[in-house]
Amino acid sequence: MKKLLVLFVLFVCSAVSLSAQPAFNERPKLVVGIVVDQMRWDYLSRYYDKFGNDGFRRLLDDGYSFNNCLINYLPTVTAIGHASVYTGTTPAFHGICGNNFSIDGRAVYCCEDNRVMPVGTDNKKEGQMSPVNLLSTTIGDQLRLHTDFRSKVIGVSYKDRAAILPAGRSANAAYWLDKKNRQFITSTYYMQELPQWAKDYNKVLAQNEEFKKVGADVGLYPLTGHITVDMAIAALQGEKLGQSNETDMFCVSFSQTDVIGHKWGTRGEHTDEAYLELDKDLARLFRALDDNVGKGKYLVFLTADHAAAHNNRFMQEHKMNAGAWLSQEVRNEVEKYVAQKLGNAKPVIDAIRDYRFFLDREAIASQGLDLQRVKDVMIEYLRQSPNLSFVVDYEKAAYAPVPQFLRERILLGYNFHRSGDIMVCVDPGYYEVGSWSSPVGTTHGEWNPYDAHIPLLFYGWQIPHGENASEVYITDIAATVCSLLHIQQPNACIGNVLKFN
Ligand SMILES: [Zn+2]
Repeated sequence: MKKLLVLFVLFVCSAVSLSAQPAFNERPKLVVGIVVDQMRWDYLSRYYDKFGNDGFRRLLDDGYSFNNCLINYLPTVTAIGHASVYTGTTPAFHGICGNNFSIDGRAVYCCEDNRVMPVGTDNKKEGQMSPVNLLSTTIGDQLRLHTDFRSKVIGVSYKDRAAILPAGRSANAAYWLDKKNRQFITSTYYMQELPQWAKDYNKVLAQNEEFKKVGADVGLYPLTGHITVDMAIAALQGEKLGQSNETDMFCVSFSQTDVIGHKWGTRGEHTDEAYLELDKDLARLFRALDDNVGKGKYLVFLTADHAAAHNNRFMQEHKMNAGAWLSQEVRNEVEKYVAQKLGNAKPVIDAIRDYRFFLDREAIASQGLDLQRVKDVMIEYLRQSPNLSFVVDYEKAAYAPVPQFLRERILLGYNFHRSGDIMVCVDPGYYEVGSWSSPVGTTHGEWNPYDAHIPLLFYGWQIPHGENASEVYITDIAATVCSLLHIQQPNACIGNVLKFN
């Protein structure tokens, strides 16, 4: 009798656990990817007590947190982060090598595309944008391929690159803010005319008295997060995302946090306000998802494109080693040193971008200089220049005397058409300071935990509550989402599928 009872209990338990498992091809109605620009992982615990119940804490208290998610390439900057989250790969393969980089010597902005026209504005500067420089597929592209393009994939952000790169090349739409005309726009890459719901929302935005009053750089205000959510909710309802028979994908990026961080740093009232206001924005977005898609029927992940250093003066005030790496001064010194050694009249450096020297190969060739000799002389100088921990010739990075983990990050970040020639790493606590930098602000770009340790939260459809301290990477996000959806990974994905246990 006892045996029978045990068998019966086992049978019931297995039946219950079987019924809790989704069918092999069952998927959520909607996948929502959220990227918070410049969000450090430790902000989650720093602000935990001040967060409300329905924003970040809905994800932390009901969802799953990977507490040690790192960025596994260099440099750690915005466009690369957004591309890597959704492609599951790095600049070596997806080709987005910075916000600004060069393609075989031609300077480009990551999303510029003069073959397309603005839609919703006549401002070419802000509207001629597309994902044309993105070389690999995103989660959304894979979803579209899997469903014979019946899934809808849409990106929304105030920064063009934060809307365009996450959504991918086959996306139905990406919408971003024309900062001059204060309207959400897109380009002819996606469509010829804004949908009616977007035109309607733009009319509401044009009447927003508070938004009219903010200064030239709208990114400096938490209000820009509010309007990002307003636009996202308008898109959710206007496009009926998550309401068809196929899974849709919605990429929502919050970028005001980055502009605020660059201006005021990681500490202080502006940054506190930015995250507490964003917390309310998230709560509003989740409520709209509950109402329009249904609680438990959508899958959310939230992460960041990079984090940020503490302000170097603040660190110095507290006796810690920190400082500025003055790239413009270094550039001038290097040019002087090379000219003394090699006798050239014209400069050899085209640009310094995110700790990388892009050489002017035309100028080098036209003056009869040998490229390798120029690089060697530059490296000779940089090795005795202060506050640099490593100087690496990209072409020789595989054999460079740098720690293995760092060599791998350098190589994963290197695309030989697009990444320049020499990379430097600054000492811990140091960061590049140029003419644009704010004395109380911050920046990012290095491998160190303050720049590379980002939040990674999952919530909703099939996600248990829990947390995990294993080391995982930004490239694991796309692999994991595709695994949950039972669809193929993006076509250059190098990540591993994360386990929720
Ligand atoms: Zn960023």
